[in-house]
Amino acid sequence: MPAKPPAGAGRRKAAPKEAVKEAAREEAVKASAKPCPICGKPAAEASRPFCSERCRDVDLNRWLSNSYVIPAAKDDDEDAE
Ligand SMILES: [Zn+2]
Repeated sequence: MPAKPPAGAGRRKAAPKEAVKEAAREEAVKASAKPCPICGKPAAEASRPFCSERCRDVDLNRWLSNSYVIPAAKDDDEDAE
């Protein structure tokens, strides 16, 4: 490490970057503090954003049943044209 710069030269160039980092970290904390969308319990780190794999499964099933409906509706639309 070279000689220490004078106190006056201490322009905090890194400050804005650090602020962004800080905001991102806060965002992550907020996300982890979100309750489980299925049952409302605090989300677990291992199965975010759900509280457990069980709730993740429930959501996945909802998702799958939804995505089964969409192609059928699309097909119907094409048929009408
Ligand atoms: Zn849950």
